[in-house]
Amino acid sequence: MEEIVGLCKRRGFIFPSSEIYGGYNGFYDYGPLGVELRNNIKQAWWRDMVQRRDDIEGLDSTIIMHPDIWKASGHVDGFSDPMVDCRESKLRYRADQLFFAPVIVAGETIGYVSVVECPQQQEIAEKAAADIKRKAAKQGTLEPIVLKDYTESKPEEYDLVPSPATGKPGSLTAPREFKLMFETKVGPLADDSAVAYLRPETAQGIFANYKNIVDTGRVKIPFGIAQIGKAFRNEITPRNFIFRSREFEQMEIEYFIAPSADWKALHREWIDTCIDWLVSIGLPRASITEDIHPEDKLAFYSQATTDLMFQFPHGEQELWGVACRGDYDLRQHQEHSGKSMTIFDEASKEKYVPHVIEPSLGVDRTLLAVLTAAYTIDEVPNDKGKVEERTLLKFSPKIAPVKAAIFPLLKNKPELVERAQALYQKLQRRWNVFYDASGAIGRRYRRQDEIGTPFGITIDFDTIEKDGTVTLRDRDTCEQRRVTEDELIQFLEEQIDG
Ligand code: ATP
Repeated sequence: MEEIVGLCKRRGFIFPSSEIYGGYNGFYDYGPLGVELRNNIKQAWWRDMVQRRDDIEGLDSTIIMHPDIWKASGHVDGFSDPMVDCRESKLRYRADQLFFAPVIVAGETIGYVSVVECPQQQEIAEKAAADIKRKAAKQGTLEPIVLKDYTESKPEEYDLVPSPATGKPGSLTAPREFKLMFETKVGPLADDSAVAYLRPETAQGIFANYKNIVDTGRVKIPFGIAQIGKAFRNEITPRNFIFRSREFEQMEIEYFIAPSADWKALHREWIDTCIDWLVSIGLPRASITEDIHPEDKLAFYSQATTDLMFQFPHGEQELWGVACRGDYDLRQHQEHSGKSMTIFDEASKEKYVPHVIEPSLGVDRTLLAVLTAAYTIDEVPNDKGKVEERTLLKFSPKIAPVKAAIFPLLKNKPELVERAQALYQKLQRRWNVFYDASGAIGRRYRRQDEIGTPFGITIDFDTIEKDGTVTLRDRDTCEQRRVTEDELIQFLEEQIDG
């Protein structure tokens, strides 16, 4: 992760927000390359999920909506995470990410260990337990360390579990609910009636507009409404770079189906569609797994939820949630707004409140997944044939921030520069391409490899003196071949827009 964060900063993908003031925890800014990558991910999703499908419509609703929407959705009362404070260090943890276990030797509990969720948590806890046993000079067998999260702690354990900050027991509070929605005030009155919320998800904007879209008359069941937009959550512990931040962006679909539909089959179809899409933007299939939520952990209204998990640098974590939410949301809005949420199904001649399947994906998490999958270090020969280590980002051409770089072989030969400039300007009308004339050609290739530009195009003397062909270099294999301009354009079209 550190290497990816370093590369993102160095090459202008992602910066900590407000960095000149020391940064602002949980907020990140996207620099010139980051904004391109981000836009390309969003455009690919919009094209594949909305424009290339006949059954999904797009929407762009406001970030601040009528506060009653968040009462109806259950967020005002229920959108919170369990938190625990360390009274001594003043640090705050998410209770479900703080793990603890008793240290039991020969049947007797001689202390507790605690650890903040991480891939090595079991190892760290076992080592800490062995230390406690050694310090206590206790003879006998150390029983296996069984970690539980802090929401499962009992009141008599609060004073016994050590704080991960100090390593000492006695300073952790009981778990308490912490509200995640950011509040603001709308209008000139500063009293409670002015309280509004920054949306913590884009989904409710979809439910709030469902009637408008149905009444516009073009949709028939099953159909979906898709939205891309900012969401805000006052996360207790924003961490792991852009994986968990306080301001992020979501790409969500509410897919409305008949109550009698085979929702299990449709859920499966959506999971497969989502996996295929992730693979299409360059994530290896083997790095995606499914986490099926057990029935006893589902929210009361939820029929099923499967999270698509990705192998991030900090461990396997949720990337995309695909939930079957029944008719809960529409019924809540029907009740609170007094407006009917029924639809007339032409096919079955029935009137009903539809059920919904919700694939919900974070733009920033997708970007981190894409960076993780693309980040590669390999060895290639340099201009002089000496093998050197190189860092490259193997982005799919579909989402790469820069699609191709155009190089005149030498910058002091006007005829090469002129021809390269002409090609650059031609390609620039369609794609984000880059022109670079400075330095040895090998070094120019390397600079592009590091930012993930899939193709290098060099104009040399053969181009101007012989057949007009250019050299096309592949970032991953470093292979070069000569192509005509027409072949080049056709190839780029297939690779980038295909
Ligand atoms: P988590 O359990 O990781 O907090 P969640 O289950 O609360 O996530 P959802 O409410 O299902 O997440 O949100 C849908 C998607 O939005 C997630 O799969 C993730 O991609 C993205 N997302 C949610 N919270 C954040 C965040 N704080 N930062 C970045 N992306 C987020």
